[in-house]
Amino acid sequence: MTTATTAATEFRPKELPYAYDALEPQLSEETLRYHHDKHYKGYVAKLNELVVDTPFAQRPLEEIIVSADGPLFNNAAQAWNHEFYFAALSPAPSNRPEGRLAEAIDRDFGSFDQLKAQMDKACASLFGSGWVWLVEDKSGKLAVMSEQNAGNPLRYGMKPLLAIDVWEHAYYIDYRNRRADSIAALWDRIDWKTVAKRYEKR
Ligand code: MN
Repeated sequence: MTTATTAATEFRPKELPYAYDALEPQLSEETLRYHHDKHYKGYVAKLNELVVDTPFAQRPLEEIIVSADGPLFNNAAQAWNHEFYFAALSPAPSNRPEGRLAEAIDRDFGSFDQLKAQMDKACASLFGSGWVWLVEDKSGKLAVMSEQNAGNPLRYGMKPLLAIDVWEHAYYIDYRNRRADSIAALWDRIDWKTVAKRYEKR
């Protein structure tokens, strides 16, 4: 049997950089299997369907996010957002920022604890599905952003540093409706070395 998709137009889903059970107990194996294999891979598959015969075929994902609208934007951004989210979680994370990133957090939020409090609040108050982001704006200042649905800071010329997925599918298996509890646990899995590498990359 042949498939209609050509290799050149196809976006390939990334595998998780750790085992499915490696983030327990904060994120269960069941959650990661659904989140990565069903939700994330589903967005990539849909993106591959939608991009065929558009000007975005064979273009980088970031270009689609910045320029496309509607379902094409939604699925491209969800693919990118999930890769970015999964990549910042770790079985053996550095739990606190260091170096230049730590200095910038102190400068722009007062302290690391105040940054976390601001992100917790943004996660709790985001109505419906979406993402809470730590970003660096064009002037170099760090900020917390809430985005509905697939929203991505690249649309506004901002540099994403960390993404928190607040769609129900990210936490409902383990935490049911307790979104705040899921975010409180997630801090123990966020690797600030990865975030610092993103910050340092020019
Ligand atoms: Mn998700």
